Amino acid sequence: MSDKRNVTCIICPVGCRIEVEIENGNILNLSGYRCRRGLQYAKDEVTSPKRILTTTVRLKAEAAHVLPVRTRAPIPKSKLKEAMQELKNVSVAAPVNMGDIVLKDVAGTGVDVIASRNWS
Ligand code: SF4
Repeated sequence: MSDKRNVTCIICPVGCRIEVEIENGNILNLSGYRCRRGLQYAKDEVTSPKRILTTTVRLKAEAAHVLPVRTRAPIPKSKLKEAMQELKNVSVAAPVNMGDIVLKDVAGTGVDVIASRNWS
């Protein structure tokens, strides 16, 4: 017997509601998407959901300030907690430019964490 799951696509502001029919872990049918990006998003969301991690890290010698950072690409949801743990131990010295790598290969995902803004 198959199950149905609804996924709201977050790739663009349209926010299509995509229905995914699954049986024994296999996708049988998808409906409600308007483009291939949404189709891929819904497949990934059901089989291996990923998210961009946005958070902050400490700035060296600036105890009251933190630097906003994010992963360069989405990482598996199952790795978010491990990534946050690793970032707790990171502190960055100024100057920092937006896009600078703050932490390479976070949680073994192959994805780098980068600065979201400048700090001088
Ligand atoms: S399916 Fe396509 S059009 Fe619909 S929300 Fe996703 S990206 Fe946008």
